[in-house]
Amino acid sequence: MSSDCLFCRIVQGEIPATIVHETETTTAFRDISPQAPTHVVLVPKLHSPDAVSLVKAAPGVLDDLFRAAGEVAEAEGVTDGGYRLLFNTGADAGQTVFHAHLHLLGGRKLGALA
Ligand code: 5GP
Ligand code: ZN
Repeated sequence: MSSDCLFCRIVQGEIPATIVHETETTTAFRDISPQAPTHVVLVPKLHSPDAVSLVKAAPGVLDDLFRAAGEVAEAEGVTDGGYRLLFNTGADAGQTVFHAHLHLLGGRKLGALA
């Protein structure tokens, strides 16, 4: 937990967010600026700056994030149509919040990746 980290504060309930799913290790909430009809951000409760740092610090938590993503996709009704899961990692990729997070995007045909 880092008190100056936005996503730690959402995990702790200090900043409001629309939580759609929660497990022992993971919190999932709607992105404040959705880029698709379904845009959910899945974050580990453990603070780690990006996905690669996370896998080194807590290997099983990435499994949990992807498992939770599958459950959110089902709940959002995007499993059949398909959806995109992605981690922006570092500034060139557009990462703006340096607490690892998995984006789940779906609900329409998505554009090219980059
Ligand atoms: P990144 O660009 O780091 O991969 O993704 C950060 C995401 O967090 C962005 O899609 C942005 O819209 C979202 N975001 C930033 N601030 C907030 C917030 O206060 N609440 C929620 N729910 N999402 C946020
Ligand atoms: Zn954090």
